[in-house]
Amino acid sequence: MYYPIWYDPTFLIFIVPAMILGLIAQAAVQGRFKQYSQVATMRGLTGAQVARQILDTNGLSGVSIEETQGFLSDNYDPRSQTLRLSPDVARSTSVAAVGVAAHESGHALQHARGYLPLQLRSALVPAVQFGSWLGPLIIMAGILLEALMGAFTLGNALAWFGVLLFGLVAVFSFVTLPVEIDASARAKAMLYQYNIVDRRELDGVNKVLNAAAWTYVAAAIAALLQVLRWVFILTAGNRRR
Ligand SMILES: [Zn+2]
Repeated sequence: MYYPIWYDPTFLIFIVPAMILGLIAQAAVQGRFKQYSQVATMRGLTGAQVARQILDTNGLSGVSIEETQGFLSDNYDPRSQTLRLSPDVARSTSVAAVGVAAHESGHALQHARGYLPLQLRSALVPAVQFGSWLGPLIIMAGILLEALMGAFTLGNALAWFGVLLFGLVAVFSFVTLPVEIDASARAKAMLYQYNIVDRRELDGVNKVLNAAAWTYVAAAIAALLQVLRWVFILTAGNRRR
């Protein structure tokens, strides 16, 4: 017997804590970003200027910088080799802005240098897009096959295959962690080395980027909990038989 979603205790055990953790991490990074958006750097370079300097110094003049709408929507697109910075980052000379700009430049550097976890992450993207929606569907199909048609072995095998497919989402989230931590490490080293920030400002950059890293940790934990939820549902179903 499987619970309908509105009466599902596994939702409360596995999904709700993950959602709360994610919300706390999001609030923390937004708070840190806003706090250090008020602190100007002595050098007075904008986020866009910092990104340009880092890219050019590292022989990446071919990477273009564009402005994109949204709050903390900054990203690096490896396909078009474009760095997209939000207005709060591109136009500001704050500690938060130069930190985020340098972090995104760090991703461009990872791409140019063939940083292995980034390559692995990019390779996983198609499989993850597939697995995130097809995985749960296959699990449901397996459970239905078991329950309605009595095809226990086949249904069970199918359901576990769905869990494996869905598990790719969690693998992806964990591969993202070294990619993000490395981009921030590169950012901090370059900002200091190129005299864009001083020691005190570097401390602020550190706080902003650490807060951002925790959102990825929260996402990885959430993805793992989602997989564990399915494992729990399937094994509990087996025990009841
Ligand atoms: Zn990043």
